[in-house]
Amino acid sequence: MEIINIKPKFNLQNGSFHIVVWGCQMNVYDADRIRDLMRASGYVELNEPNNADVIILITCAVRAKAEDKVFNQIKNWRHLKIIRDDTIIAFGGCVGSELAHEIVKFDPSIGVVFGPRTTHRLPSLISQYRSTGQSVVDVSADALEKFDTLPEQGLRGPSAFVTIMEGCSNKCTYCIVPHTRGQEDSRPVQDILDEVLNHIGHGVKEIHLLGQNVNSYRGLGEDGQIVRFSTLLYEVAAIPGVERIRFTTSNPMEFTDDIIKAIEDLPTIASAIHIPVQSGSDKVLADMQRNYTSDDYREIIRKLRLARPDILISTDIIVGFPTETEADFEETMRLVNDVKFDLSFSFIYSVRPGTEAALLQDPVDQNTKKQRLYILQKRLEELANEYSKGLIGSTQEVLVEGFSKKDKSELKARASNNRIVVFEGDECLIGNIVKVKINSVLGHTLKGEMI
Ligand code: SF4
Repeated sequence: MEIINIKPKFNLQNGSFHIVVWGCQMNVYDADRIRDLMRASGYVELNEPNNADVIILITCAVRAKAEDKVFNQIKNWRHLKIIRDDTIIAFGGCVGSELAHEIVKFDPSIGVVFGPRTTHRLPSLISQYRSTGQSVVDVSADALEKFDTLPEQGLRGPSAFVTIMEGCSNKCTYCIVPHTRGQEDSRPVQDILDEVLNHIGHGVKEIHLLGQNVNSYRGLGEDGQIVRFSTLLYEVAAIPGVERIRFTTSNPMEFTDDIIKAIEDLPTIASAIHIPVQSGSDKVLADMQRNYTSDDYREIIRKLRLARPDILISTDIIVGFPTETEADFEETMRLVNDVKFDLSFSFIYSVRPGTEAALLQDPVDQNTKKQRLYILQKRLEELANEYSKGLIGSTQEVLVEGFSKKDKSELKARASNNRIVVFEGDECLIGNIVKVKINSVLGHTLKGEMI
């Protein structure tokens, strides 16, 4: 930990906080745990940043655009006087870890910089800033230390995230995550099961297991033996009250047959799996150091669909990687048409300083990249529309999450295949799994009636 920048002292003891999250589900999980921690430390959460004593920013470093957003947000709040002279800004998430001391050099008014591994120290870092008036930067800790000290989780609604591992030890050449979240470490099995049990006790029905690469989970079992991800899935599914399991993210490199068998055996595993492919070109995949070929990927999907014919596959695709030629892009389109992905994410390659790919010459101009992205997204949209229309007339088991935002007389629920379903129903259904017949499609939202 390093202390820099002398500031005036703050007299407040606790007070209020507001939290803003950018990025992936791991960040959402971290933010939820920070909420519990701040409340346990005597802080009150505000839904708006105005009047908050502490504004906590959980940031994403995966693309430059996401990084820019947070600095623009701070600028904008200053301009609107939402950030006052005595507002404490606590800057966390992956950008906190990536830029660390650079952040306070760039903006000396930022009080605390923390990272994904030091979320559990936040109240004491804030106290330190209050009592010394000096900015505090603390981004290093053992991967699993935070799980031993964070308070028990609060109410989460019918679905809850559970992080099963921290960090990533892969070396995808474009990715900043191993730098920001550190090397991979898996939580012990019993810790995960205890967290699941706690959620079930609070009425949670759906458990969403999280990790940068869940397939490479290798946690310690009670007997001191290493437990693989497939075994963890059976253990979580065996807990009474767990009605649905999701997991994110799965690297194709380690999507092994034992995991596919668990998906076949366990109907509680949701029929939607997200498997980032990134490119359909073997040359680009090798340049990205993804350690699989497009045919390896096709084979995983073939086995998955054999095991669970109803499964929908979504993915992440990067276009315009520096070595991607027109022929490589066509290979990606060929893979998209072969696999027929459901709702997926696609982006133009974003240079991340410090990664291997940042050193590559990039001959592909921005317009070409935009054009490729347009073609890809158009096709992905068509495929997702086909799936949506194909669901009309089907019956879906949906977990009711709350009221629809657009029409409060309707309930909003999530089907096993991850589609949002709206239907008319009573408030008492919130938190339960019910059957809904799908009658129509609005965008990618399904509309139906309870049966
Ligand atoms: S698997 Fe690759 S893309 Fe995913 S977090 Fe690890 S390094 Fe990044």
